[in-house]
Amino acid sequence: MPVSTAKHTPHTREVLGACPHDCPDTCALITTVDQQTGKAIRVQGNPDHPQTAGALCTKVAKYLDRTYHDERLLYPLRRTGAKGSGQFERVSWEEALEDIAARLGAIAKRDPQAILPYSYAGTMGLVQGESMASRFFNRLGASQLARTICSIAGGEGLIHSIGQKVGMLVEHFADSHLILIWGSNSITSNLHFWRYVQEAKRAGAKLVCIDPRRTETAEKCHVHLAIQPGTDAALAFGLMNEIVANGWADEDYIEKYTVGWAKLKERIRQWPADKAAQTCGIDADSIRALARDLGTTRDAGIRLNYGMQRVRGGGNAVRAIAALPAVTGAWRSHAGGLLMSNAGRFPIQRDALQRPELLAGATPRTINMVTIGDDLLKPASPLFGPAIEALVVYNSNPVAVAPESQKVVSGFSREDLFTVVIEQFQTDTADYADYVLPATTQLEHWDIHGSYGHTDVLLNRPAIAPLGEARSNASIFRDLAGRMGFTDSCFADSDEALCRQAFAEPVDFEQLERHGYQTLPMPSAPFAEGGFPTPSGKFEFFSQRLQDAGLDPLPDHVPNYEPAGADKRYPLAFISPPARRFLNSTFVNVRSLRDVEGEPLLEMHPQDAQSRSIGDGEWVLVYNDRGEYRCKVALNNRARPGVVNGLGIWWRKFASDGRNVNELTSQRLTDLGQGPVFYDCAVQVRSDP
Ligand code: SF4
Repeated sequence: MPVSTAKHTPHTREVLGACPHDCPDTCALITTVDQQTGKAIRVQGNPDHPQTAGALCTKVAKYLDRTYHDERLLYPLRRTGAKGSGQFERVSWEEALEDIAARLGAIAKRDPQAILPYSYAGTMGLVQGESMASRFFNRLGASQLARTICSIAGGEGLIHSIGQKVGMLVEHFADSHLILIWGSNSITSNLHFWRYVQEAKRAGAKLVCIDPRRTETAEKCHVHLAIQPGTDAALAFGLMNEIVANGWADEDYIEKYTVGWAKLKERIRQWPADKAAQTCGIDADSIRALARDLGTTRDAGIRLNYGMQRVRGGGNAVRAIAALPAVTGAWRSHAGGLLMSNAGRFPIQRDALQRPELLAGATPRTINMVTIGDDLLKPASPLFGPAIEALVVYNSNPVAVAPESQKVVSGFSREDLFTVVIEQFQTDTADYADYVLPATTQLEHWDIHGSYGHTDVLLNRPAIAPLGEARSNASIFRDLAGRMGFTDSCFADSDEALCRQAFAEPVDFEQLERHGYQTLPMPSAPFAEGGFPTPSGKFEFFSQRLQDAGLDPLPDHVPNYEPAGADKRYPLAFISPPARRFLNSTFVNVRSLRDVEGEPLLEMHPQDAQSRSIGDGEWVLVYNDRGEYRCKVALNNRARPGVVNGLGIWWRKFASDGRNVNELTSQRLTDLGQGPVFYDCAVQVRSDP
């Protein structure tokens, strides 16, 4: 049973909260507030929350720098200069809301589908994410947004194999004897998982990292397989080929708890280790050695993360990797199996939060957020519907993070596009707004959180009053609903009431109020005896649902759209993992963190630099047909030959040439889920002194 940690003294009080950022760790926070001034004076990890264990990452340890940043947006702003110029004047909430409601109302009268919300995981909170905002857009009948920009391909891969986004409990990795860290720089983006890995390592576990980049995590593992981007499925097939050939498959587990084995085996036969090694750009012996470890080690756990699925075949790759523990029977142990996400474990009441019934039978079109660059430039047509006339952006910074920046910027620059941006800071996207509305930070509002890394629910209470005239996202949409004349009673729900509506049993709100978190009851080894949440109740090597949808029912290696070396003009593969102190584009404006990162950096292997006469620390131009950006180069073995790593995601305005990595990325889509292919990108690099 958790204990309550919040303490009060005559001078200070402590408030329990949750980290809102897009990170699997979802840490429990304690904010200490000075009673006299009402100011937060300390943010720390809750030591009583087992997953947080009192520790925060370097980014959120500096949360006060972010909350009290001297560039926080504190008042509504109206544009006075050209779009993108960043010129605004202060206006009252009254003026801003009145005008926004009038303009959205006029567009909605013609066709509400011409209005598009654009949001993602700027906060992972269920209330300041998609609650009142969804109610507002549903009531309006606006276009729906397919929120695909991060994890959809992998999520679909899991759903069509395991049945849901579920897997091992993260704490059980501490008992694993072999841990594969696949596509994850855990030290920087899953720190609290890394703590369990350290425990396992001390007890003798072997650690293997699979990642094109030699990350901080790869350096600390016993083995690093630096495969070519987008070849993960080939590696999984090479491993399964060796496992089958050597009799290491758990035929009993396969027989009882899986479907489609005979068909998958035929495909596995096509992938001897030598062929897989050639495709992946590694040596075959390393595949044979890893197959032996996987096939013969009890308690082998795979921590799969989302970087690897941002390529054309991302969904299939996740299906192929997810097949491994079903083939070896690793699921029999609590310390074996796979974890990509446990988001499917949470009893979230989305309909109660979002109220789809407000659509009142309307079926607006859906726009994919990945293709916002193209879609903002599309005229009205019978196929597309009305041109997008208004955008309301919250919890996202698409001008910096959406692919193919040139088109995104052209779209946002349209003078006839009415854009409202709800933000804490003047981001690249806010520069293109007609109105910027100041949003509260996590210390200033209510919210409630699940997690995709662990299985605890966390409540976030406001610790301090909103700064300036900032309002929570939910308040802003509540106010806008009022201005639009929406009288449905659900628009009167307070932020706290929304928190109470977010989860069904067994989540106990009183426990959350007392302790800040609640651990959901979970089976220790969820699939030791099958029971997969698929239509067949078994692990699905073969998916009837995919076959019915006209897709390949078995996993396969789907080559990248832009494999390294295929186009002589752009011979290098380009990936854009986050810089260590940034979380996508969040935190880039926190000076203390940006100063440590220095400037946008391209990592390149010395061998690739030599043939281009590029010296360490020089300025280079990275380019392809879609665009170019200029940055400094670091020559080191973090990049494997043939692959360059452009660390992201810098705000464009902080780069010397006002551009970032997404100048180069494409708007093509993944095999499953129509997600982005940020790491499926070919470029060339040249010196640019
Ligand atoms: S580790 Fe993740 S959840 Fe924890 S404080 Fe950092 S960003 Fe937030």
